Amino acid sequence: MSCVFCDIVAGRAPARFVHQDEQVVAFHDIHPKAPVHVLVVPRVHVASLDHLGPEHEALVLHIIRLLPGLARRLGLAEGYRTVVNTGRGGGQIVDHLHLHLLGGFRHPGR
Ligand code: 5GP
Ligand code: ZN
Repeated sequence: MSCVFCDIVAGRAPARFVHQDEQVVAFHDIHPKAPVHVLVVPRVHVASLDHLGPEHEALVLHIIRLLPGLARRLGLAEGYRTVVNTGRGGGQIVDHLHLHLLGGFRHPGR
C-alpha cells in the first residue's frame, strides 16, 4: 500500500526537511496552517495513535522530547502548538502517524 510519508522518509518524494535522525524526520507541511507548520513523522509506518504498541514507547518519548529544541530552531521562542489528528473523525487525512508543530501566530494588539 502506498503511503506519502513513507515515500518522503525513503527519499522517493521531496520534502523541505528541518530535522532527520534515526527515528524520525520533520519537514514543512505542504499546506501550512500557521506561519510555521512542520510535521514530525516517525520513519517506521505506524498508521495512527490507535496503532501504537508498547514497542513504540521510546519513539513517542523521542518525538515529544524533540519538540522544544526543534521549536527553538524554527524561531518559536514564544511558544508552539502541537496537534495529532487520529482517524477520519479526528481529521486525519494521511494514515501515517505524524505530529503537527505549529507556531508564529500573531496575537491581537501586537
Ligand atoms: P492530517 O490531517 O492527516 O493530520 O494532516 C496531514 C497533513 O499532511 C496536512 O496538513 C497536509 O497538508 C500534509 N501533507 C499531505 N501530503 C503532503 C505531502 O506530500 N508533503 C507535505 N510536506 N505535506 C503533506
Ligand atoms: Zn507510511
